[in-house]
Amino acid sequence: MFRHILRSLTGGPVTEAAPAPSDPALAELADKLQKAAKARLGRSLSIREVDAGSCNGCELEIHALNNPIYDLERFGIRFVASPRHADVLLVTGPVTKNMREALYRTWDATPDPKWVIACGDCAIGGGVFKDSYACVGPVEEVVPVDLRIPGCPPRPAELLAGLLALLETSAAT
Ligand code: SF4
Repeated sequence: MFRHILRSLTGGPVTEAAPAPSDPALAELADKLQKAAKARLGRSLSIREVDAGSCNGCELEIHALNNPIYDLERFGIRFVASPRHADVLLVTGPVTKNMREALYRTWDATPDPKWVIACGDCAIGGGVFKDSYACVGPVEEVVPVDLRIPGCPPRPAELLAGLLALLETSAAT
């Protein structure tokens, strides 16, 4: 025990270094995203996150978009509490049987035009929960999916790139 305390006091951090808050590549990506939202929607982009059965690893990365490093709101992109205010549903996890109805109703309550992103390997193909008795399957089994962002979990920069690709290429339904 004493050895562990000593090592944690004297050693450096064991986690990966965070990107610099002023990372130019990141700022450029977010700036492009803001401009694409303005051009496509005439306003900022609103995202409703739906956890359809995730282990919450994907949520940790999604939450990072709002931390001081990424600070997504400075680009006018925000997470909203109600699907009524959302343009994008960002769905994580395999869809569990208990969440199937809730996911469908959330999709149904989101006004057109709307997009659905399957975020993470579980949302795309079931991932590690693929054969679970408690799961319905990937998100596309329940609602139409416009974009898939792979990863377990995808990193914040990959989420930003996915949102940008969505606005630049997809037709909203
Ligand atoms: S993709 Fe990975 S991090 Fe995301 S919900 Fe599945 S197991 Fe968890």
